[in-house]
Amino acid sequence: MADRNFIPVAAPTLGGNERAYVLECLDSTWISSSGRFLDAFEADFARFCGVSHAVAVNNGTTALHLALTALGIGPGDEVIVPNLTYIASANAVTYCGAKPVFADCEPLTLNLDPDCIEARITPRTRAILPVHLYGHPADMDRIMRLAARYDLHVVEDAAEAHGATYRGRPVGSFGACATFSFYGNKIITTGEGGMVVTDDATLAARLRLYRGQGLDPQRRYIHPVVGFNYRMTNLAAAIGLAQLERIDTILAARRQVAAWYAERLAGIEGLRLLGSQPWAVPVPWLVTVLLTGGGACERDAVMAALLADGIDSRPIFYPTHQQAPYHEETCYPVAETWSVRGLNLPTFEAMTEADVAAVCASLGRAMAKCAAALRSAEQNHVHESHARRIRVI
Ligand SMILES: *Cc1c(COP(=O)(O)O)cnc(C)c1O
Repeated sequence: MADRNFIPVAAPTLGGNERAYVLECLDSTWISSSGRFLDAFEADFARFCGVSHAVAVNNGTTALHLALTALGIGPGDEVIVPNLTYIASANAVTYCGAKPVFADCEPLTLNLDPDCIEARITPRTRAILPVHLYGHPADMDRIMRLAARYDLHVVEDAAEAHGATYRGRPVGSFGACATFSFYGNKIITTGEGGMVVTDDATLAARLRLYRGQGLDPQRRYIHPVVGFNYRMTNLAAAIGLAQLERIDTILAARRQVAAWYAERLAGIEGLRLLGSQPWAVPVPWLVTVLLTGGGACERDAVMAALLADGIDSRPIFYPTHQQAPYHEETCYPVAETWSVRGLNLPTFEAMTEADVAAVCASLGRAMAKCAAALRSAEQNHVHESHARRIRVI
C-alpha cells in the first residue's frame, strides 16, 4: 500500500495486464464501445458465471435497469427487493416506473429472508430481486421455488458477489438474468462498469437491443424500442479482462484477509462477524462485523476511533424504507436491528496480515472503551434510580 498511515476500506490492484491492454486500446485507437476487449470480456465473464451470454454495460445500476426493462417490468408492476441493500437495487425498479416492495432479511447473513417474501406478493408482483449481500449468496433454491409458484421473474443482483457459489453453482446462473458491478471497490473493477448475464438467447438479444439505443441490429438507424446508451467502452473492458484473468488470485487474497480477520476478531467481546450458511461459499467483498450490544451511537463511536487510528470503515447499508424517497412506517425488525450495529472493515487484495492486525487492534481498543462507557452509563443509571427510590421512600 502506498500510504502506510491510512488503511482504506477498498483499493483495487491493477498489477496484471491492465496497463498493457489499456495501452493497446490507445495505440490502436479502439477506445469506444466496440473492440476485442469487449468481446473477450463478455465471453470470459459468461464462462466464469457458467452461463452462455454476458452483456457489458457502463455500471451496475444500469445493468439492473436494463435487466428489468428487457424483462418487460414497467408502470403498475411491483418487484420484491430486500430492504437491506445498496440503494441502486430499489432505484432500478423505480426507473422502470415500477414499485419496489421491501422484504426483511435474515439475521445470520442479512440476506433476503425467503420467509418474508410470500407476504409481500400481490397480484401486481412481477419479479423478485435477491441481492447476494456482501458476497454471500441469497437462498436461491427457496427463492426460485417461490418464483415458480407465483410465476415471477428472478433477477439476481450479484454486484457484490463475483465468484460466490450456492450449493456449488455460481451466483448469476439462477435467475432469468443477473447483474454485476465493476465499480472501483467491487471484487473486480473496470473503473465504472457492469454486466448482465443470462442463459436465455432471446433475453440476451433484448438486453443488447436496449443497451444500444434500441438500434435494430439488421437496419442502421431503425429503432423499434426506446433504448438507452448503456454501453461499456473497450477501454473499460480492457481493464475488466485483465482483472478477470486474475480473479482466482484476487479471491484467494480476499479469503486470506477474511481468515485473518476471523482469527483476530474471535477474542474481541461484543461483536460478531456476519455469518455464513453451510450451503454457501461466499466471497469476502467487505468483511462485516456486527456489534452485539449497543446501537448506532456505539457503532459510530467505533468508526470514529478506527478513523483516529488511520483506518477507514463504513456503516452497513441503512434499510431502504428509511431513505427519503422510499419512506414507510412499516417495521422491518431484522434490518432495523442490525443495520445500526454493522460496520464494514477494510477488505482488499493488497492487505497484509499487519494491516489486518492493525485494524483488529484498533477495533479491540474501541470495543473495550465502548464497553467501559456502557458500564459506567449503566452504573449511573443504577445510582440514579437508587437515589430516586431513596427520595421516594
Ligand atoms: C455496487 C452495487 C450496485 C450498483 O453498482 P454501480 O456499478 O455502482 O452502479 C448495485 N447493487 C448493489 C448491491 C451494489 O453493491
